[in-house]
Amino acid sequence: MDDKKNLGVTQNVSFSTRLARIAHPDDVPEKWRNTPIGALIGAHNFEEPIKAKGSPQLLVATCIEYRFQPILPPMYSYIIRRASGRLIGSEFSLVYVLSKGVRHVVLLGHDDCGMTQVSQHAPAMTNVLIEQGWDEDRAKEYIAMNAGRYAIQDEVDSLKQEFFRLKKLFLKVEIAPLFISISSHRLYIPRWYIDYMNKGEDDNAGVNPQDLLLLP
Ligand SMILES: [Zn+2]
Repeated sequence: MDDKKNLGVTQNVSFSTRLARIAHPDDVPEKWRNTPIGALIGAHNFEEPIKAKGSPQLLVATCIEYRFQPILPPMYSYIIRRASGRLIGSEFSLVYVLSKGVRHVVLLGHDDCGMTQVSQHAPAMTNVLIEQGWDEDRAKEYIAMNAGRYAIQDEVDSLKQEFFRLKKLFLKVEIAPLFISISSHRLYIPRWYIDYMNKGEDDNAGVNPQDLLLLP
């Protein structure tokens, strides 16, 4: 194991108390063992290569970030990559994946996400559009409109909000919120999810999924 692998997101004070390590296969929640979710954890944390199945097993939804790639073979998983990793506006893609038989989804958050600093990036992004021939007002309007849609305040909290939003929309899919450390590429479990699992309750009672489709 090289030194880089020893440096992880848990050394960052913003995350150190909010993420649980998966240091041993026993740390994988029982319901994820022997599932495609457990396989992804094994590939990242225990150097266990995933064997392709020839049919899609998993959807991984994550950020466009270039500093990591989910470790997945061809012929195994769908991947949706969008700024911030949330699926807002991409629910149609998720429905398509489900229509192919997939019932396991990993929402993969990461540290140091550029979408926590959208206001800093906005002027450069506006300039890109102007350089590409856009009218300045139209460019500003476009960036402002979408900045609100893609910006997140905090990577762990954003993952939590998106997990519960999707869980209410899709009742019969196993959704695993996981967090990847950019420095080590190891996966972690948010502590809020462990607390939620320990409560062992289903908070979907009385919710009509269709009513949630228009959530921001
Ligand atoms: Zn990101």
